Amino acid sequence: MITIKDKTFVPFLEPAKLEKRIIELADQLDKNYQDKNPLFIVVLKGAFLFAAELFKHIQIPCEVTFVRLSSYQNMESSGRVKQIIGLEEDVQDRHVVIVEDIVDTGLTMAQLTAQLSQKGAASVEIATLLHKPDALREDVNIRYLGFEIENRFVVGFGLDYEEQGRNLAGVFVLSEATEPERRTAQSDKATK
Ligand code: 5GP
Repeated sequence: MITIKDKTFVPFLEPAKLEKRIIELADQLDKNYQDKNPLFIVVLKGAFLFAAELFKHIQIPCEVTFVRLSSYQNMESSGRVKQIIGLEEDVQDRHVVIVEDIVDTGLTMAQLTAQLSQKGAASVEIATLLHKPDALREDVNIRYLGFEIENRFVVGFGLDYEEQGRNLAGVFVLSEATEPERRTAQSDKATK
């Protein structure tokens, strides 16, 4: 059990389990992207440790870049549209793989995928460490998935609670005792 600020979290995914699964994902990516020189786009901050572990095991020629996403109110559409910050590479005709920490409602990935396709990417796939199927609201195709998890708030291995806990070597889940507050924790979630 660990405490971060006002919340307690319990171990959920051990480092060895994470590593084993990430190696499997790297093998799949190696097979599917051989000779395609893919461009991996890592979404900061949350995916930094997943990416670090993944790229230790990817053997094929590839390019890796890092972006952040910001949100702002788009007056013309109904929702908030996240803008890509820091993408210097031309994605035209490139095979792109987005590297993400967690897909929750799927809104972030739906928007990012659409934006990259609009920029002329030859293909866009998603590799995410975690996914909460029960929270999914958008039609998002997750090709490379580490773990499906329950709709509960998690921290560690890159994911934060109010910017704390990213450095934890495993994934921890908000303890049942504080579970009714999970929506609060989730709405507090930081900007990637
Ligand atoms: P979505 O657009 O899919 O609803 O949101 C995805 C983003 O929400 C993730 O990249 C992450 O930043 C944040 N997020 C969703 N669920 C969790 C969670 O359980 N823990 C943390 N730390 N962040 C989460």
